Amino acid sequence: MTTTTATTMHPLKIGSHVGMNGKEMFYGSVKEALSYQANTFMVYTGAPQNTRRKELSQLRIPEAHALMKESGIEQFVVHAPYIINLANTVKTETYRLAVDFLALETERAIAMGSHILILHPGSHVGAGTPAGTKKIVEGLNEVLTRDLPCFIALETMAGKGSEIGRSFEELAAIYDGVVCSEKLRVCFDTCHVNDAGYDIVNDFDGVMEQFHRLLGREQICVFHINDSKNERGASKDRHANIGQGTIGLPTLHAIVHHPDFADIPKILETPYLPSLQDPSRSVPPYKEEIALLRKPLPL
Ligand code: FE
Ligand code: FE
Ligand code: ZN
Repeated sequence: MTTTTATTMHPLKIGSHVGMNGKEMFYGSVKEALSYQANTFMVYTGAPQNTRRKELSQLRIPEAHALMKESGIEQFVVHAPYIINLANTVKTETYRLAVDFLALETERAIAMGSHILILHPGSHVGAGTPAGTKKIVEGLNEVLTRDLPCFIALETMAGKGSEIGRSFEELAAIYDGVVCSEKLRVCFDTCHVNDAGYDIVNDFDGVMEQFHRLLGREQICVFHINDSKNERGASKDRHANIGQGTIGLPTLHAIVHHPDFADIPKILETPYLPSLQDPSRSVPPYKEEIALLRKPLPL
């Protein structure tokens, strides 16, 4: 049984974040995605917690592209490292580093063949949301140009610590300040939006209405599909496996198959599970979770 006409017209685009390391680099990322039977994926251009990056020539981009082409992967997305904090008003050198590195990351994303770079807007580290937002806007205005062939997708945040972007209003305030705001998009993370207090479980349509009024639903260019370990509004940001958290499979399944977002990539960032053979090792849950989200819900 099929769910909607929209999903039969567009095959569901679903995948997970994958690694990029060892000798195979980006080519290995594509292989990893295929091992989960994914038809899209997300990569970091290097370790998410630092700015050490390999030369583009070492990433094996042509082989990755050939494999994507042959296996029907049309789109993937890149995530900027989360140490980039444009909202830092305190240390000027941290802000400078963040802007310069963000500019390099957009170049790398483009060279790898993605036109979407996902960014955590930033944390104001005590200076307050208005001051932090001003810095984010300033940074984005340095990086975004009219002819840049890449969107920066601001991620909806859970609101842990001093994170900015925990409400649609806070994201809209960034859009308002950015000159080339047509180069902005949004990455909608289900765990983060739940933890920020939005009731996507009982009223996804209402939440989307609110989003639409403030930002426009067509601004969503990626979904992060994660369950949450915490109650709605906890401001925590701890991802749970699909169906194992407070959001639950029916809601996540409905979002993944929502006819308004049929063409938008859905990326899983759920936690690894202890291996059944060797509990000291952990294994990715993505192959099973992708299959679970693809098939119709059990009645
Ligand atoms: Fe993220
Ligand atoms: Fe996310
Ligand atoms: Zn998260």
